[in-house]
Amino acid sequence: MSHTDYASFYRRSIDDRDGFWAEQARLIDWQRPFDRVCNYDNPPFARWFEGGLTNLCHNAVDRHLATRADQNALIYVSTETGTERAYTYRELHTEVQRMAAILRALGVQKGDRVLIYMPMIPEAAFAMLACVRIGAIHSVVFGGFASHSLATRIDDAAPKVIVSADAGMRAGKVVPYKHLLDEAIRLSRHQPQRVLMVNRGLAPLDPVAERDVDYATLREAHLQAQVPCEWVDSTHPSYILYTSGTTGKPKGVQRDTGGYAVALAASMRYIYMAQPGETYFSTSDIGWVVGHSYIIYGPLINGMATIMYEGTPIRPDAGIWWRLVQDYRVTVMFTAPTAARVLKKQDPAYLTKYDLSSLRALFLAGEPLDEPTATWMAQAIGKPVIDNYWQTETGWPILAVCNGVEPAPTKFGSPGKAVYGYDVRLIDENTGEKITEPNRKGVIAVQGPLPPGCLQTVWGDDERYVKTYWSSIPGRQMYSTFDWGVRDADGYYYILGRTDDVINVAGHRLGTREIEESISSHPAVAEVAVVGVADALKGQVAVAFAVLKDPARAATEADALKLEGEIMKVVDEQLGAVARPARVRFVSLLPKTRSGKLLRRAIQAVCEGRDPGDLTTLDDPSALQQIRDLVQPPSA
Ligand code: AMP
Repeated sequence: MSHTDYASFYRRSIDDRDGFWAEQARLIDWQRPFDRVCNYDNPPFARWFEGGLTNLCHNAVDRHLATRADQNALIYVSTETGTERAYTYRELHTEVQRMAAILRALGVQKGDRVLIYMPMIPEAAFAMLACVRIGAIHSVVFGGFASHSLATRIDDAAPKVIVSADAGMRAGKVVPYKHLLDEAIRLSRHQPQRVLMVNRGLAPLDPVAERDVDYATLREAHLQAQVPCEWVDSTHPSYILYTSGTTGKPKGVQRDTGGYAVALAASMRYIYMAQPGETYFSTSDIGWVVGHSYIIYGPLINGMATIMYEGTPIRPDAGIWWRLVQDYRVTVMFTAPTAARVLKKQDPAYLTKYDLSSLRALFLAGEPLDEPTATWMAQAIGKPVIDNYWQTETGWPILAVCNGVEPAPTKFGSPGKAVYGYDVRLIDENTGEKITEPNRKGVIAVQGPLPPGCLQTVWGDDERYVKTYWSSIPGRQMYSTFDWGVRDADGYYYILGRTDDVINVAGHRLGTREIEESISSHPAVAEVAVVGVADALKGQVAVAFAVLKDPARAATEADALKLEGEIMKVVDEQLGAVARPARVRFVSLLPKTRSGKLLRRAIQAVCEGRDPGDLTTLDDPSALQQIRDLVQPPSA
């Protein structure tokens, strides 16, 4: 493959789309070659590498056995349990086959869904790889989510089997899973046939007769298992990953097989500059898209060792991540800006204590990267700090600096330029016109087809896919990212926040509607508005303003605090602590337009001490004043 300058590389990916991607498709193995690179006969549905047969697990594991069977594939580190264990490609292959045999024995067949609700343990990776090995579709649900969130996903994905564990651990504390899972299954209409439990010995399991089975016992029974990869169509779904939107119901982002494998393989080269045989360290969680793409599939498809880390960045001390970089000769590292901000508060000596000479760059994504953090981080580790912008929906970066194609400068505050394959447009939200002049704000959109690796549809709901993502730009069918942005004269984009009610807390995407629905289920609450408010550490935090059925419930400060605690507990139990608002404040009415539309943006502006803008539609100005008095007390 001849490397050219980035501008030509990019142009070719758009102008000679099929030629470009047919070349990239050589980065993976095909059992049968594809007939057509991209079938876009039925927009916006793109079918990549149609006619081709492949398998994600083959490309991530089996393919490497011939050349690197004894090299590390999965390096598991838990500072919570004090475990550090590396699996070679051969060992990973063996464990994945055992898990695949177990799933088969439990009745899982091609196309069946398997829900994975697990902490960061190797068995979670085995389960993901085992699913795609046999053509089953996995749906990993972040371990920080609680019963209600889990139940919604169980009902939508309708899994035949759920794989889970007794507990996770965070900052030295056991986080039990089993009771949340049992409660979720009780709440859901769909019932899984079997629940496969990994027992870490951290929390009680209370097995449900006829339903729950023990992983260790079944593994013993399948030690010699040989389960060949099931060759599937390139367009066969590999997984569903739920993400929050503007409604209370999460969307199941459905990903294909061949397009995803090709997109990840290419991104490892062109964006992350990662070579086979090296070690990749992404600090995300398998419950998020970064975990899917850059803990599990991307590094393994690229023949690398990948570090799977259970723990926080500051335990046992703030040197832990850098110790891992040193010990495993990590070349590429990936984390979120919030983690960098956490490290910034620690003793800087930890950043120079270890040998970081192997490290090529640190990539950050998932939320806006502020300039002071980026500058500090780059100086502290003496390595390039590279921002990149993408979404659960796309599965890999939309905006980045593709140093693997042509080294280019980083501009602080910008994740970079449009990535090859994405026909990125900046759109005037009122007219739908393409903005061509620099530095004018617009909606970041992508002209279809989306490149390989992006969502195929919303699981089970093609109409919702079209309506949600492809129908918001006036007069055109174009994919909306729902992010505001500007582009400078050099083609670098700057992200200016969401156009919808999605908020981003410490890189975790949350829908304000979901949190509002959960708070409304508390019997004392009549009505509630949740907004994202700027936070120095987490980027944003959720803040709730509730109207009570009986205002006397929050008559005194002590009453209000007690009720606030109760409401937070409801959110913890239903959605998980990750969605818990930082504050729940009580007001007698919410700011709305005369037609009854909640003015979340005005509330947010007031909370951030900004001008709420045009308030001519506001029904009762005292509503906003109440909020102002609460968040900006006159004494402050
Ligand atoms: P998620 O699907 O959870 O990865 O969240 C995607 C959203 O996070 C995007 O739509 C952006 O709002 C935000 N986001 C992700 N990466 C970046 C970045 N590098 N800079 C600014 N915002 C980002």
